[in-house]
Amino acid sequence: MKRTTITPVFVDFIPEELNEGVIYISETYKTIVHRCCCGCGEEVVTPLSPVDWQLIREGKLITIRPSIGNWNYPCQSHYLITRNKVEWAGGMTKLQIQRVQERDRKDKELYIAQIISHKTTVTEHDVNKATLNSWLSDLWAALKNWWSH
Ligand SMILES: [Zn+2]
Repeated sequence: MKRTTITPVFVDFIPEELNEGVIYISETYKTIVHRCCCGCGEEVVTPLSPVDWQLIREGKLITIRPSIGNWNYPCQSHYLITRNKVEWAGGMTKLQIQRVQERDRKDKELYIAQIISHKTTVTEHDVNKATLNSWLSDLWAALKNWWSH
């Protein structure tokens, strides 16, 4: 049976046994786990990150964005969790699913590219410093050489 509400439980560690109708949130490990809201019993894991899911917490009410699409499970459930309410979204066609997955992949690539480009900047800076240092030590060696004559 499709449920219409879910109860958030804040934990450090996700328990082994998951109750139906409960959504376990570990802010420590940036993970949310719950049993699929359609009642199929599948465990749904949604990592929290800028490119995965975001959690909005208002006291005891939680909202998760974007929607949760269980494309890898036979039920193919698709829903939004908004202030502890399960809002059922329409089923998606294969093409729509592909588009969402494609967009997710692109978002991730962009995110990773940003991290890498940031690191590259740091590396270039380090290289310049290293070049300068070796140039200074060469100069120093040349001067010492000149003095000793
Ligand atoms: Zn399901």
